[in-house]
Amino acid sequence: SYTTKLNVPGHGELAVPTGLFINNEWVAPSGGETFSCVNPATGEKLADVAHASKEDVDKAVKAARHAFKTVWGTKVAATVRQTALLKYADLIERDAEKIAALESLNSGKGIRIARDADIADSVACLRYYAGIADKVFGQTIDSFGEEKFCYTLHQPIGVCGQIIPWNYPSLMFFWKVAPALAAGCTIVMKPSELTPLTAGVFCDLAIEAGFPPGVLNLVQGLGATTGDAISRHLDIDKVAFTGSVATGRRISIAAAESNLKKVTLELGGKSPLLVFDSSDIEEAADWTALGIYFNSGQDCCASSRVYVQESIYEKYLAALKKRAEACAIGLPSDEKTSFGPLISAGQRDKVINYIESGRSEGARVVTGGQKWPQSNGGFFVEPTILADVTPNMKVVQEEIFGPVVVVAPFKDEADALELANNTTFGLAAAVFTNDTRQATRVSAALDAGTVWVNQAALLHAGVPFGGFKQSGIGRELGTYGLEAYTQVKAVHNNL
Ligand code: NAD
Repeated sequence: SYTTKLNVPGHGELAVPTGLFINNEWVAPSGGETFSCVNPATGEKLADVAHASKEDVDKAVKAARHAFKTVWGTKVAATVRQTALLKYADLIERDAEKIAALESLNSGKGIRIARDADIADSVACLRYYAGIADKVFGQTIDSFGEEKFCYTLHQPIGVCGQIIPWNYPSLMFFWKVAPALAAGCTIVMKPSELTPLTAGVFCDLAIEAGFPPGVLNLVQGLGATTGDAISRHLDIDKVAFTGSVATGRRISIAAAESNLKKVTLELGGKSPLLVFDSSDIEEAADWTALGIYFNSGQDCCASSRVYVQESIYEKYLAALKKRAEACAIGLPSDEKTSFGPLISAGQRDKVINYIESGRSEGARVVTGGQKWPQSNGGFFVEPTILADVTPNMKVVQEEIFGPVVVVAPFKDEADALELANNTTFGLAAAVFTNDTRQATRVSAALDAGTVWVNQAALLHAGVPFGGFKQSGIGRELGTYGLEAYTQVKAVHNNL
């Protein structure tokens, strides 16, 4: 009964699973509770989704533990996991059009971007981790004379709780499950309550890909209930989280207070972008627009703080204004749309309040600054530029998580670095300069887990990603992302 018939643009009526997925079966929540999600482009309700209780989380953990001990982890060769992951990638690719349309409907992102970025990158992530699943090697340490030697085993951590946000519902799902499955872990996944829909489709496809019962389990629900039950569960070995700093802190505390489960956190950002006077202004403005307006600014590594060398400040602002005003705002189902609504009314109001705060603290609104006049019931905010900001303004210190970039001038390299690093965050940064020695110097000095040189916003499955400072703990993606789901065992031998 937990299936919702949804009218998905371009695909007619689709039956979308909205239950809980435990042991490869769809089940109802034990308390019979549901929550609803809405279409951010219209404000209309999309579906009622099963709300997992603490007992449901416990059932999912038991299923995951049993699978870990019997059919996954060290019980199968890595090539078995590799084969299933490759098949999974093929199935997502086969159904990409439908999945992208559902993603676009639930998250508000333009259909073309959902298909060509979110779903394409999800497939790439699965294939990347399938490729390295059988390339996890230990060491032999044979420096103790001929009668003794040691070796290391890289063993899967066990049952992993995974909690993800709403800004990239599909991609975050695969950034989490692909390395965990490759390493041999079993999973209890909780999507965001705002964007629960594509995850259901991914569970159906997991059966078809050949993952045994209990390997991948899905519990839908709110953070304070379902998410908290995961963080506190005594038989979960690790929790991997992406979301806000405040929630990351709560999850860390819950993990520490319960069983000291391992924790990795991918949190927020307020990423600086530096434009030196030797750079190509038009090119820098192109990348800045992508960096701040992609996904309507709802991006943890959005280039949200821009510092420009004073001699080119006004020229750069004019170039960025042109791009902000050229953003293709529109309905997510339109192929031309590159800039959709924000995820919720709450998020929209939060962003508008930040703009007002910037205005009242003396920032210059170069463009945008309000709800999109053609919003109807949707949660659209115009692409916005706030210029002449000063370091202590709220809009400079806090993460807005919307299409608002703050811009200020700097004098020289030392000044630029001081402004850039004056933040509690450290997720990403970008530097535009034609001087390669300056690029190398500045990249080394920026407090950030990712630095882009003469570009912005690009992430790849094969390149590690994560935060300095309060932007997180641990790394995802690349070989580091796989290691994060293993633990090292040293075996000492006496012959
Ligand atoms: P959020 O922290 O409110 O929610 C994220 C997830 O945590 C959701 O699934 C939510 O249900 C769950 N959650 C909420 N309270 C919880 C609790 N007490 N215990 C356990 N789980 C709980 O964040 P959001 O609003 O969904 O996402 C926006 C934030 O995520 C931004 O700060 C953004 O920067 C960050 N983000 C970071 C990355 C990254 O990789 N670093 C990527 C995307 C988003």
